[in-house]
Amino acid sequence: MLISVVSPCYDEEDVVARFHEEVQKVADELLPLGHDMEFVYVDDGSRDRTLAVLKQLADHDPRVRYVSLSRNFGKEAALLAGLRHASGDSVIVMDADLQHPPQLIKRMVELREQGYDQVIAKRTRTGDRLTRTLTARLYYRLVNRLVDIELVDGVGDFRLLSRRVVDAVLGLTEYNRFSKGLFAWVGFPSTTFEYRNAVREAGRSSWNLRGLLNYGLDGLLSFNNRPLRAALWLGVCLLLCAGLYTAWIVGAALVNGVQTPGYVTIITAVTALAGVQMVMLGVIGEYTGRIYYEVKRRPHFLVKASNVERTKDLIP
Ligand code: UDP
Ligand code: MG
Repeated sequence: MLISVVSPCYDEEDVVARFHEEVQKVADELLPLGHDMEFVYVDDGSRDRTLAVLKQLADHDPRVRYVSLSRNFGKEAALLAGLRHASGDSVIVMDADLQHPPQLIKRMVELREQGYDQVIAKRTRTGDRLTRTLTARLYYRLVNRLVDIELVDGVGDFRLLSRRVVDAVLGLTEYNRFSKGLFAWVGFPSTTFEYRNAVREAGRSSWNLRGLLNYGLDGLLSFNNRPLRAALWLGVCLLLCAGLYTAWIVGAALVNGVQTPGYVTIITAVTALAGVQMVMLGVIGEYTGRIYYEVKRRPHFLVKASNVERTKDLIP
């Protein structure tokens, strides 16, 4: 069985060589068991020497494939590039920053041999800040109530995929990619095991609060149109309230005659309704924006340099 390890790298010059050493060790242990390995590194338009390091690795190890993107397209696109260039019967997706322990690969392969199509590594939250743990828990509870697939706290992109899962994921050509959700959407027999999350070895995480919030929003919007439905229901409820209130005002005017005061009520109603309308417009706008990106059918990434021959990259 050929096992591909796909790792997106963005500004990882400090760790990627060390990462490669670690996976090589694993490869040496897996070889006697009849498993060959290849390593697919995607340089996601790094600003540092990542590409040079990758080329060096490829010179010394014929199992190294690298794909360098023309600019930074983001992790999701880099991951897709990696999957397209991987030729293994099983593909393991993992970060190059050693936060995903390479030693777990053996465990994944074992579970793959038991017949699972997806072997998912789930990180525990030990060592995380309490606020982060709590917000994550809250987020997943909320999101799972809304989306049609199940997203699990601590489950990320670190997983092994069988060939048929990879092909299925490659068949989903949407532009706004939320891999965690795509993997869950594909399904097939899956199993999960837990591991302790390691701290980053070197370099810097490219996530900030805004990025996380936007990622959260993507997760919410990528898999359903329930926010649109919610907006609709909110509108209907408001309409009902407004109707009742109007009836009450008109009734009062008929009984007591017209009284001029009412400024506060009017202002409140106008601003509240304007706010609600803005939110709904925003929700609709989010979906329209997504459609806009989809219809352009631009490629997800462009390749600048690679030692793998593939023409598929240019086809969206
Ligand atoms: N990454 C990437 N493109 C980006 C940002 C990140 O390919 O624009 C890679 C990065 O090199 C790493 C993985 O995605 O291998 C995870 O990124 P990071 O460590 O910043 O995220 P975190 O582990 O904090 O979730
Ligand atoms: Mg990381």
